[in-house]
Amino acid sequence: MFTQSIWKDTASIHNHQVLNRDISADVAIIGGGVTGISTARLLARQGLKVVVAESLKVGGGTSGHSTGNLYVTIDKNLETLKNKYDLETVKQVLQSRKDALNLIESWVKAYSLDCDFKRQNWNLYSAIAENDEKIEQELGVAREAGLEIIDSDPANYPLKINKGITLPNQAQLNPMRYVQELANVADDNIAIYECTRVIKIEESDEGVVLHTSGGNIHADYAVMATHVPKGFDLLQTLLGSYREYGVAFKAGDLDFPEGIFWGYHEDGKNISSRLYERNGERYVIFVGEPHKTGQTEDNIQHIQALCDFAQTHYGLNQVVYRWGGQHYRPADLLPFIGRRNQNGRTFVATGFSTDGLVYGTLAAMMIADEITGRSNPYSDLYNPRRFTPIKSASRFIAENVNVATVFLKDLPSGADKDSFADIKVGEGAVINYQGEKIAAYRREDNELHLNSAVCPHLKCIVNWNNAEKTWDCPCHGSRFSRDGVVLEGPSWDNLARAKFKDSLPDDIQDRK
Ligand SMILES: Cc1cc2nc3c(=O)[nH]c(=O)nc-3n(C[C@H](O)[C@H](O)[C@H](O)COP(=O)(O)OP(=O)(O)OC[C@H]3O[C@@H](n4cnc5c(N)ncnc54)[C@H](O)[C@@H]3O)c2cc1C
Repeated sequence: MFTQSIWKDTASIHNHQVLNRDISADVAIIGGGVTGISTARLLARQGLKVVVAESLKVGGGTSGHSTGNLYVTIDKNLETLKNKYDLETVKQVLQSRKDALNLIESWVKAYSLDCDFKRQNWNLYSAIAENDEKIEQELGVAREAGLEIIDSDPANYPLKINKGITLPNQAQLNPMRYVQELANVADDNIAIYECTRVIKIEESDEGVVLHTSGGNIHADYAVMATHVPKGFDLLQTLLGSYREYGVAFKAGDLDFPEGIFWGYHEDGKNISSRLYERNGERYVIFVGEPHKTGQTEDNIQHIQALCDFAQTHYGLNQVVYRWGGQHYRPADLLPFIGRRNQNGRTFVATGFSTDGLVYGTLAAMMIADEITGRSNPYSDLYNPRRFTPIKSASRFIAENVNVATVFLKDLPSGADKDSFADIKVGEGAVINYQGEKIAAYRREDNELHLNSAVCPHLKCIVNWNNAEKTWDCPCHGSRFSRDGVVLEGPSWDNLARAKFKDSLPDDIQDRK
């Protein structure tokens, strides 16, 4: 299965230089997604010299794989947030997200960013009566918190609904175009390096040194805008990593209204849908089917489920784009943004769930304020050093029991194929050979890539993702290409090359 997000195919991709020497700056940012690029822009505006090191292309991480919706509310619902905290917290979250959404809009206007930004209604609906109560509850809390939210007219929906609510004046854009265009606005204070992977950070009283694939970056501060902190960090015990999928269909003659649509459907399915128009073509996008990263037998079935949904509800059958994306759910529902250690020089921004185009922008505002010595009204709310045992307890336990379970399950025993010969062209599988777990992928030319299946992060065993053709770690979500190069998640390192104690297996003809 070929996977590519609609955003990547409809954006003009600019090239940035590759680092090939030692350099210095005031602030070194790791990651060129919405968080990294927005942070760079805000700091540069304050006169600081900023370097961004991106291991792939700008926007090539989750930012280019999202749905492109911008809203003040949150995917886990205001009702859940209020139950865990209180109404005041709900109001603060809404206001902080509104500030960030407004910043995005102001940049789109100020820099004339060609990213299809448009103010739109956000709609939440139940397709079946059992979920009406959730809609009522959300309406109640949103109103209590001061949002001008209304009962919606079922006629404004693309399908038959039971109950819906509408929040006007939210927004949509093409997230890849947005990040690409924002990165491309000329600023002498910003240097962006692509295909430049940071391998290690060293922090001392004098500053930070980022060791990269192309030279060292010396700076006063480092910002880990990598979606999740790299390396070992206790924050990872407070986050669950999830994979979710998107599909885009040609709309043809289908009458699909503009706006953001989040629906509660039968069998507990939550589906987000939207229209997107570019180059005279109209597409309908469906996003959903989340599951813990690396913990599904068959990733393709999740994409197929979205296609079946589109066929059943809208008669759509011309799927053009399919893709997966990662998100990290925080145990206490709030992201972690700010200085990682008291008086430290490294900043983190993580736990955005599927709300991170806005939270990533907010993180940029907060981190830029902290580095330039300005107070920020939300620094306590999103403090990454906060300790919230009661609010985090249930998710903390659930996520860590899950990690322990997958870790133990994968101690040397059953691998997922018996021999290398069983692996077909284009397939990957974990093979238990001479007591080692080997991540084996058979290329189109029939040769095998052989890596250790042990994730370098915390030694869990990776699983094959048959849709995106990657190796996904079920513990903390590190992901690797078919030939073992780290793509995302907390691991700094690639999968190690497979080592064989004795002879090579009989059924390996070529070892690559
Ligand atoms: C299916 C899906 C739908 C979503 N829909 C929405 C939505 O509609 N609205 C919304 O607000 N949010 C949405 N989100 C969430 C949002 O997309 C993310 O939270 C946000 O894009 C995160 O941005 P980021 O810059 O922090 O991370 P990323 O965009 O992932 O950027 C991190 C960058 O760091 C780079 N990197 C990592 N390691 C290194 C290294 N060692 N060296 C150098 N670079 C490195 C990566 O290559 C990557 O480009 C969605 C998420 C998913 C999965």
